[in-house]
Parts: sequence; C-alpha cells; structure tokens
Amino acid sequence: MLLEGQIALVTGANSGIGAAIVKALAAEGASVGLNFIANEDAANQIVEQINRSDGKAIALKADISKENQVIDMFKTLTDRYGTIDILVSNAGIQKDSPFEQMTIEQWNAVIGVNLTGAFLCARQAIREFLRPDRNTSQSEALGKIIFISSVHEVVPWAHHANYAASKGGIMMLMKTIAQEIASRKIRVNSIAPGAIKTPINKQAWDSPHAADELRKLIPYGRIGEPEDIAHAAVYLASDEASFVTGINLIVDGGVCISN
Ligand code: BGC
Repeated sequence: MLLEGQIALVTGANSGIGAAIVKALAAEGASVGLNFIANEDAANQIVEQINRSDGKAIALKADISKENQVIDMFKTLTDRYGTIDILVSNAGIQKDSPFEQMTIEQWNAVIGVNLTGAFLCARQAIREFLRPDRNTSQSEALGKIIFISSVHEVVPWAHHANYAASKGGIMMLMKTIAQEIASRKIRVNSIAPGAIKTPINKQAWDSPHAADELRKLIPYGRIGEPEDIAHAAVYLASDEASFVTGINLIVDGGVCISN
C-alpha cells in the first residue's frame, strides 16, 4: 500500500471530494482524521465504514476558519495517532452573488473557510512536520500538503468573485509555501478539480438537461466523479510523487485546455 503507516488529515471530509479522498487515503493504509463542521452523522458513517474495513479513522469537528479550533483539531489528531504526515486541505464553500450585491458576510465566509482555513491548517501541519523528534521513516518527505483548489483559480467565474478570489489565493499560497519549504523536504501541491459531481454544484448535474449542458463544456464528455480527484490526491501524497512539489494538477476532463 502506498501510504502504509502514515497519518493524514482531510478537511471537509464528510461529503463530496473530501469524503472520496479520506476513503482513498485510508484504503492505501493511512490513518485518517476526518474533519467536518456540519452533518455529524455523515462524518460518523464514513469513520465507521473505514474502521469496519480494517482502516483507522477518527472524526474531528472544527470550523477551520477559526485559529483555536484548528489548533485543537491538530492536537486531537496528533494525541491519537502520534503525528501527521499528510494534510489535504479540501474544505470549501460557495456563497454566490452578483458582485454589486455581494455582502461582506458572503465575502468573509468564503475567504474565511477557503483561504484562511487553508492557511491555518497548512501552518499547523508544517509546525508538526518540523517537530525535531518526529518519526518520519514512512516517507521520503518530512510531510506533504495538498490543497484542493479549483479550475477557478485560473478561470474567471462571474457571480462567484469571492470563490474565484479564494482559489486564486490558494494558488499563490501553495506555490509560495512550496518554494519556502522545499529544502526542508516538505512537498506542497494542489489539485484543481473541474466540474465534479458533489453537493456544492448539485444543480449543475442533478437533472438530465443540466447534465447535458454541463457535459458540453467538458471536452472529455463526462462529468467528474469524486474518485477522479481522490486518485490524484493519493498520487501526490505518496512517494510516487517524491520529486513533485509546487505544481497544480488540473483534473477537469480538458476544461482548461483552452484557458
Ligand atoms: C465549483 C463547482 C463548479 C466547478 C466548475 C468548482 O470549483 O465548486 O461548483 O461546477 O468548479 O465550474
């Protein structure tokens, strides 16, 4: 297994892309912390599913936009499993609005979770990666961070200025941390999903007509599944990607080809 004996945290892991990633990391032998904020039942179900199939998982409730909650979440995870080797910063929300009507609450909510949350979790992970007496024999790297961004880090998105700004921010956060920390053997990358069937964009694929319209925008001719992103996350987390840092892996069926 690619991640045997490693410890991972996935934020926003009780639905959609995060849920697929946490299951895939566990299936490759990682012990996983599954962060969530709402819908505790869904989080507990995934934890039970992983534990029933001989994996190791715990649910970690935290609002990642709040510094104290992130610090407490990492402490609970490291108290339980000893350390952390892999952070998948995935949690993200949308609060869409025509720009002139966008409220400060909509702006702050999206930047708070998508960008500040990514910063807080990455900082906490790196503090732990750099702890001198940590056991890191399971991987060539001291630690790995994967940000789940979006094609909207490069593709402008009318009526979603807060969301697109947060994803553009993740791009430079990722590249800057990767540059700053590479010499200390920490790999930092991101994945930019295109249209993937998840709750965040249900209205875009949930009816036959909507799905047909969406498929027309995707050169490869199908809508993405959460597992398409999970496979990419396993690769970037594993030593198969040992020489890969500072990249954004676009997984979008070709949407970005012409952008
Ligand atoms: C958004 C989805 C959208 C997709 C492609 C994602 O980042 O969260 O709602 O369907 O980008 O536009």
